[in-house]
Amino acid sequence: TTDLPRPREPRVLTVANQKGGVGKTTTAVNMAAALSQSGLRVLVIDMDPQGNASTALGIDHGGDVAGIYDVLIDGAPLEDVVQESPSLPGLLCAPATIDLAGAEIELVPMVARESRLRKAVATFLAARKAAGSPVDYVFIDCPPSLGLLTINSFVAGSEVLIPIQCEYYALEGLSQLLTNIELIKEHLNPTLTVSHILLTMYDGRTRLSSQVADEVRSHFASTVLRTSIPRSVRISEAPSHGETVITYDPVSSGALCYLEAAKEVARAAQSKGAQTNQEGSDQ
Ligand code: ADP
Ligand code: MG
Repeated sequence: TTDLPRPREPRVLTVANQKGGVGKTTTAVNMAAALSQSGLRVLVIDMDPQGNASTALGIDHGGDVAGIYDVLIDGAPLEDVVQESPSLPGLLCAPATIDLAGAEIELVPMVARESRLRKAVATFLAARKAAGSPVDYVFIDCPPSLGLLTINSFVAGSEVLIPIQCEYYALEGLSQLLTNIELIKEHLNPTLTVSHILLTMYDGRTRLSSQVADEVRSHFASTVLRTSIPRSVRISEAPSHGETVITYDPVSSGALCYLEAAKEVARAAQSKGAQTNQEGSDQ
């Protein structure tokens, strides 16, 4: 019961930007919720020790809860830590607990320290497929730094989704981010591609917002989703209710824009084919 195409293979989107507060978590949970509500099967992996994605999905992530820490450090199966979001049944989340902060250091001496998440995700996806309930999308919410948690997130991903805040300095740090993604491709994950850029916190009343948007679009062409996400109080209120804006206020502009952006992402996969992300197939 979905009007959106199911990808032939699960798509694993790493939501990344080394800057904090640009809308990574908001984008990860709302894109996930939008696709889930459209009938697709979606998992959110919270890789930020602050656990904001877990909170936004209403997922218990207190100290005694099993989470992504147990997956990375103890090799617990992802299947054992995922929970269903109370606000959107069917939407899965692997929560981040506070001990994940320590994982950054605990991972350093470990075997295959960069690819522990990738392995866990692959096992999970294969098991779900074998059980007849394949997962269509995985969104990985990254912390705002380039440590082993973010590296694991890049290595586990098939694609990168970069949210860019329509503010001054938005492009600062972006070339550093792209350089880091190139390094990951070269050494750890050769097929990783930056498939989508999403403009967030767009304020149509300010010239600055439209200047930033124009600049990003002229640099990155069709990688930038046509839909921008407006600055919206409803979007920022939703997490305190343990909900995404998709269920919290489904008719708000923020919800409608995330639904539209999610559609673009889902349809891009179809027009571009399962394994290529080259530009040029637009229109
Ligand atoms: P990051 O994960 O990159 O640190 P967040 O997604 O947590 O960024 O967003 C930072 C803050 O901005 C949060 O308080 C969030 O609620 C708010 N926010 C994000 N997107 C919007 C938006 N489109 N409109 C209004 N507030 C937003
Ligand atoms: Mg965040």
